[in-house]
Amino acid sequence: MHNAVERLMAIQSEIKELLIKNNSQNKDLNIIIICKTFSIDKILPLIDAGHVHFGENKIQEAELKWKEVKEKHPNIRLHMVGKLQTNKVKAALNVFDYIHSVDNYRLGEKIVKYEKELNKKIKIFVQVNVGEESQKSGISPKNVNQFVNHCKNSLSLNIIGLMCLPPIDDNPEKYFLHLNQLRNQTDLCHLSMGMSNDYQTATKCGSTFLRIGSKILGERNTR
Ligand SMILES: *Cc1c(COP(=O)(O)O)cnc(C)c1O
Repeated sequence: MHNAVERLMAIQSEIKELLIKNNSQNKDLNIIIICKTFSIDKILPLIDAGHVHFGENKIQEAELKWKEVKEKHPNIRLHMVGKLQTNKVKAALNVFDYIHSVDNYRLGEKIVKYEKELNKKIKIFVQVNVGEESQKSGISPKNVNQFVNHCKNSLSLNIIGLMCLPPIDDNPEKYFLHLNQLRNQTDLCHLSMGMSNDYQTATKCGSTFLRIGSKILGERNTR
């Protein structure tokens, strides 16, 4: 069996055990394989093994890699996990099924505009800056309620959950628990949290979409 498929299966059984051990009610835990920088031939074995959720962080890379593959495999769901510029919204709606990085009103309004034009509805996570770090994107935790309500009620966006990237130099647990609490307050279903180095903690804290790259596909060449 292909190495990446083996690593995916190992993680799947590991998180299954974790959920049982923690007596978790969470039966809906998905793995998004983050493919940025990897060419499609590295990803095809995972598609052939039946994996559905894949992620990218750049529009152009996603278009080049996924347009044809998605036509051949219509069951694939592609997730935009990187920062989205307002002038790239139309292109993003064409290739992606989920956006994880909505964090400002202008972006929300642009998405509404192009959803109407393209007659397509996209699933959205609101990105939260859980560590209130100045260099990171995301809505501040104290503004999450107001922002989510505006997106849902005034813009009619399909907000399905919250997403975060916790501070790298701290134990992620309290940030994941905080995001879970904010998710409950806003009455949303999903939590996009947990990467290669903290997916076990995220699983215990209620994640429903893990975003895992290097642990499955190997180390990336830093460009
Ligand atoms: C690259 C990336 C990931 C995956 O990172 P790994 O550490 O390789 O698992 C997850 N989320 C986002 C937003 C990313 O950019």
